Amino acid sequence: MPYKAPRGTQDILPGKIPIWRYVENTARRVCELYGYQEIRPPIFEDTNLFTRSIGAGTDIVEKEMYTFKGEKGGTSITLRPELTAPVVRAYLEHHLHKDKKFQKLYYLGPLFRHERPQKGRTRQFHQLGVEALGSYDALLDVEVIDLALIYFKTLGLDDYKLKINSIGCPTCRTKYRDILKRELTKSKPQLCEDCKKRFDRNVFRILDCKNQRCYEITTKITPLKDYLCQDCKDHFAKVSKGLQDNKIEYILDPHLVRGFDYYTKTIFEITHPVLGAQDALCGGGRYDNLVAELGGPEIGAAGFAIGLERTILVLESKNLGQADKEVDKLKVFIAAIGENTRPYGFRLLNELRRRNIAADMDYEDRSIKAQMRLADKLKTEYVIIVGPEEMNKQTVKLKSMDSGQEKEISRQNIFDLIT
Ligand code: AMP
Repeated sequence: MPYKAPRGTQDILPGKIPIWRYVENTARRVCELYGYQEIRPPIFEDTNLFTRSIGAGTDIVEKEMYTFKGEKGGTSITLRPELTAPVVRAYLEHHLHKDKKFQKLYYLGPLFRHERPQKGRTRQFHQLGVEALGSYDALLDVEVIDLALIYFKTLGLDDYKLKINSIGCPTCRTKYRDILKRELTKSKPQLCEDCKKRFDRNVFRILDCKNQRCYEITTKITPLKDYLCQDCKDHFAKVSKGLQDNKIEYILDPHLVRGFDYYTKTIFEITHPVLGAQDALCGGGRYDNLVAELGGPEIGAAGFAIGLERTILVLESKNLGQADKEVDKLKVFIAAIGENTRPYGFRLLNELRRRNIAADMDYEDRSIKAQMRLADKLKTEYVIIVGPEEMNKQTVKLKSMDSGQEKEISRQNIFDLIT
């Protein structure tokens, strides 16, 4: 074939639409149950929005953004590699905070990161995310975590694990950055090549390196939670208590850090063992400084993003979500015998559709036998057969594909029999 979908992208073919609708429809239902409203920011944004929010030293900003020239005069545009910053930008641009400071928003849609493709990692992928803007309440962290877990539970999944940690505020982090560097200096030569670079660029990322040797080295280091300031400590204690009160099981993971600079205090990840190396289904946390960083008021916020391709990988491994009832099944196939009966059949076809009955007919000049084979393949419930004789009498033959029974009925009666 001369053309293929670009590396790291995939076509979602009709056969996969039921499972996609299942994850999307469930997402809308669960988010709205928790009081979140849908928002749809554009696919591309001003590059500075991402550099400013995600952080200049992060993998995403340094290596993974699809960036190109915008307007004449050279503004720079980037395909969105995440949606928290676009949602905050929209919240501020449309003064949503003036209408109601506390806003709970969710989104569904594609994102773009120039990563090395592998199982569960593509260059275009889709996320469900929520952003709750305008509150410092620790119970909001618990709500956001609970929402992500209930989403997976509603889909029918189990075996997922929740890991949490606190990354502190910028003051705790600055202090800990120095401690980390000091404690890691001796072992620096033993770190993997990537972590040697991370040492200067973004030393926190060494903590979540998947390399076994780096993992062993960082396990011995005093965790950040031991250096948190009083406010961050109190907040984390409230979140932990909220999770316990609501019987939400979690693992406290000192290795957990996130690939975005905007996080503060609580961070979390939900993983699933079926996924292998790329096992994160969801990542999120609190980001109390981002709104002000992007020019808005000082307000707290928390959110998460769930990868839908990975969610679907897990669902498929469990044979779940195959039959979403909202995908309309074909109910009637109209088989016309001979060219002259086709307009008669076509009028009938449109009358069925106007009554919300999913119906179709042949457009490839098939023989009646081939039309019946096609109807069978399309798994239709009924076939309506119209030939010259039926047309003259204003009748049709109605065949139930289930029972194989066929009867001649008057054209007017069709709509009473098929509903
Ligand atoms: P992040 O925005 O990096 O916190 O990612 C949130 C979730 O999106 C992850 O837990 C994954 O489920 C999913 N995700 C992130 N990057 C990719 C990717 N390149 N391909 C597919 N899914 C991804």
